[in-house]
Amino acid sequence: MNNVEPLKPNFTDASSVRRYLYRLRDVIEPLGFNRSNTFTMASLCRDELTQSLLIELADFWRLPFILGGLAGLPHYDIETWQTGLSHIPESVERSKLLIIGTAHVGMAPDGTIGHIKRRGQNQPTIACGALGAVAQAITNPVDEQAPVDPKIPSSWPTELAVLQETLGVHYAPTVPIDVGEMTFACAQVINTTMHEMLDSLTIHETCDVVVATGVQIHLEDDADQMVPVATTLRDEHGKQTPLSIG
Ligand SMILES: [Zn+2]
Repeated sequence: MNNVEPLKPNFTDASSVRRYLYRLRDVIEPLGFNRSNTFTMASLCRDELTQSLLIELADFWRLPFILGGLAGLPHYDIETWQTGLSHIPESVERSKLLIIGTAHVGMAPDGTIGHIKRRGQNQPTIACGALGAVAQAITNPVDEQAPVDPKIPSSWPTELAVLQETLGVHYAPTVPIDVGEMTFACAQVINTTMHEMLDSLTIHETCDVVVATGVQIHLEDDADQMVPVATTLRDEHGKQTPLSIG
């Protein structure tokens, strides 16, 4: 996996998830993507807070094949991808595949990034919790010789181990981690990973692919927002063309 230089978080680019999906559709419809010919895949965190995106996505396109993934990181195993790709409807023309990838973060009413009060709870908790765990592991690295601390997982799921390894190079253990910046870095890792997986497949031979990555922001008592991070068209040669969704 390639390392990434974390983006500076830019929450001013946020719009509602619905508005984001409108803008995305406006850009890719002229490229031949429509509801009847487009298969969708999505990589988003298992956190229930993220699931509203699936409902909105289904409204515009259809329910997606799920690729992720704690923190939104897509699965690395080729079988998962091949299974999803095998579900693409047959077409006499080139098929269309839209892949959405999102990191996510909570935002408190006072603008504090990284926490949100969940339904039925009195105190805010971390969102994304998986990224919080990675930040915790970076700032409190496990001493292999030390007795096992039950608060620190002894064996990370592969996806989180990779996420920690990839993001960890950008953070000194002694420096507090900016949760907003880490969320955007995570979105970049998700984007990079999805393109690496697509590079290793030959789906571009039969399918035009758009990969759209962003950060989903959860607000208390309001609809989720989305910040686009990268949107890319992959053509029949696998060539990547960045798309601007404004
Ligand atoms: Zn999460």
